[in-house]
Amino acid sequence: MNSWLSPRIIVAFALALVGAIFADQMTGSAERILVIFVSMLIALFIVADPHDREDVPEETVKPTASDTEVPAISSHPQLQAFIDSSADAILMVENARVTAANQVALRLLGTNIVGQNVRMAFRHAGAIERLSDPDAQHSGHPIRLTGIGQKNQLWDMRIQTMGPSQKIVHLADRSGTQAAEKMRVDFVANASHELLTPLAAIKGFIETLDDPAAGDDAATRGRFLGIMATETDRMQALVRDLMSLSRIEAEKYDPPQTPVDFSDIVMETVDQLRNSQKDRGTDIVIDVTADLPSVMGDAGQLRQLASNILNNALKYGRAGTPVTVLLGRSRSGAMINFSVTDVGDGIAPEHLPRLTERFYRVDSGRSRLVGGTGLGLSLVKHIIDRHRGHLEIRSTIGKGTTVAVLLPVVPTGPS
Ligand code: ADP
Repeated sequence: MNSWLSPRIIVAFALALVGAIFADQMTGSAERILVIFVSMLIALFIVADPHDREDVPEETVKPTASDTEVPAISSHPQLQAFIDSSADAILMVENARVTAANQVALRLLGTNIVGQNVRMAFRHAGAIERLSDPDAQHSGHPIRLTGIGQKNQLWDMRIQTMGPSQKIVHLADRSGTQAAEKMRVDFVANASHELLTPLAAIKGFIETLDDPAAGDDAATRGRFLGIMATETDRMQALVRDLMSLSRIEAEKYDPPQTPVDFSDIVMETVDQLRNSQKDRGTDIVIDVTADLPSVMGDAGQLRQLASNILNNALKYGRAGTPVTVLLGRSRSGAMINFSVTDVGDGIAPEHLPRLTERFYRVDSGRSRLVGGTGLGLSLVKHIIDRHRGHLEIRSTIGKGTTVAVLLPVVPTGPS
């Protein structure tokens, strides 16, 4: 109360008044002074009571449970803050009723769950089964549950018995693990499918050639053997890329330690393509800055990176148009900039973020026709990550595509 006439001040005045009347009855002036002094002192103490809650500055007043947004798991504010800072949902359940919950739990299950029965709060058969019996004992081992919150979210639920009918429930989101597992399963399924397709074709042609009616005709035989050779090459390329991918993935936390001349690697790759691809090789135009610094790299992997990017430009660029290779220093000078630009159909913007996913193709038929495995850019991305570099793909529909790579140069120490 902020009023001047608070009960405390009225009592103090009354006491001072009683003291004054009492002093008036006294005969000696020394006794009068003593009585007045003592009554005034007591009045002063009453007015300035240090335990008075109203005199404590506002910020030091402890919040009560009803003041805070979340009902306190503990009356200890530091423990409450600690539990609220957890990325996992934490709840207290007593006699199958939620008695407290941290912020994550409130966001997950609803802001009104405190006080509710576990059936209402969780709305999940697996969780209800384990929490509705107050006397059940729990070991604290995680139980995997799907569908709490969002349909495809995966949770590890741990229940710890605290006292009679009292449990602490801890829910950890494991949806990320599920996504990684799904990616692994998808990859195995995709790789098997990619290998089975050429294998089925080869098997079919063997059976056909085994039939004397088709196998004895030299022209048919030659054509079928040609297709079988192409399919075998496809399988070989795929197995080679799969092996490279697993090798690079195994080394991704182990950055290369050897200085490598990336200009030499690019020049060698261009020469090799000019010789091997008679129809397209001569379209390569190259502009390389002289005396570029080395990069800390794995020569074999950088050769594969240059080859995959150049091969894509030759495969997907329009025949007879230039494929322009630029190699120079980045603006800051701390990186080497390698870019390959083709003139072609380009790639629609919605595909760009997904091009480095394994087996992602814009046009599967076209990729297979030109001998693509669907792993080229995924390998490029892994190699760049291992070299602590950067990849950018820019494309305009109907005009063409630029794939640009930045690789850090070998740092020069202070001279
Ligand atoms: P692929 O073996 O199929 O070429 P990549 O991983 O190298 O696989 O590339 C993924 C997809 O990206 C290709 O299938 C193709 O659709 C698209 N792509 C890659 N490079 C280019 C490019 N220069 N121009 C147009 N599309 C491209």
